[in-house]
Amino acid sequence: MLDYEIAPATMTEHKSMKDIATMSKEEVLKFINSFDTIISDCDGVLWVFGNPIAGSPATINKLMSLGKKVLLMTNNAIISVQQYVKICRVLGMAIPEEDIFTPATAIARFLEAQDLARTGGEVFVLGSAALKAHLQQRGLRCSDTSVAVLPEELGVLTAELNKLSTDVRAVCVDTDINLSYLNLMKAARHLRDPECLFVVGATDANIPITEKDVYIGPGYFVSVLQDHTGRVPTVVGKPSRFLADSIVQERGLDPARTLFIGDSLLQDISLGRTAGFQTLLVLSGCSRLAEVQADTRPDYYISSLSALLPLLPGN
Ligand SMILES: [Mg+2]
Repeated sequence: MLDYEIAPATMTEHKSMKDIATMSKEEVLKFINSFDTIISDCDGVLWVFGNPIAGSPATINKLMSLGKKVLLMTNNAIISVQQYVKICRVLGMAIPEEDIFTPATAIARFLEAQDLARTGGEVFVLGSAALKAHLQQRGLRCSDTSVAVLPEELGVLTAELNKLSTDVRAVCVDTDINLSYLNLMKAARHLRDPECLFVVGATDANIPITEKDVYIGPGYFVSVLQDHTGRVPTVVGKPSRFLADSIVQERGLDPARTLFIGDSLLQDISLGRTAGFQTLLVLSGCSRLAEVQADTRPDYYISSLSALLPLLPGN
């Protein structure tokens, strides 16, 4: 499996990761019996670049039939929770809305914990329409961030910035395909108020689109606001402590008996380690074994989730 050069220090780390494909039937059974709940990432685990990974949904279904509770957790809030339910249904997996966690659900939970809906505070969102719709469904009021083309005069920009709503109590940042300079500036203005919350969903620096193409992720825009305002955001997407703690608390999970499955060392395996979950890296997505560092070392790895299926009890 290890067909690349590894520095001696890294080798020690690799030695402590288990390749499930090389485990005996007894070891696999012991592994399966060691967790009750699975939290799985979506892109790179269930599908890749929009194409389903053959056998992965069947593996999820088999794990469910073995009594495992399956929750999905993604850093992509361009797609709504309802759309995720539909995608899963098309792939043959029955995952209800409440078992799907996205930056939208995390931001809503965070703002609810701050009592923002009850106090009627407005939320300024740099994010997808699906994110805004989710917050609105939860009773939160979102500022109008529709994008208009402005005449290129500083006076016009200043006039726009002078029209800021005074009701904004939180600035939320996630992936925003319609991101504009004006909205970034408005967000920065709102953040001048130290009482205005600064909450961030996904912080991914890169969004892999195809095998050879990567887009700029929301992390860079968060950095722009952070650098410009000097404000430090509360991150609630993967791999944040907030997300790990809230899911453990909300679902009453025993971290030691929870398995986190993901393809990203930085987002998935980091979150799993932070929460004290067992971690399984699948090599069907963005991260490679050679990229494993001491603080992103998974407990287990496998070429893809579908490769687990023939090893499961009863197969
Ligand atoms: Mg992924």
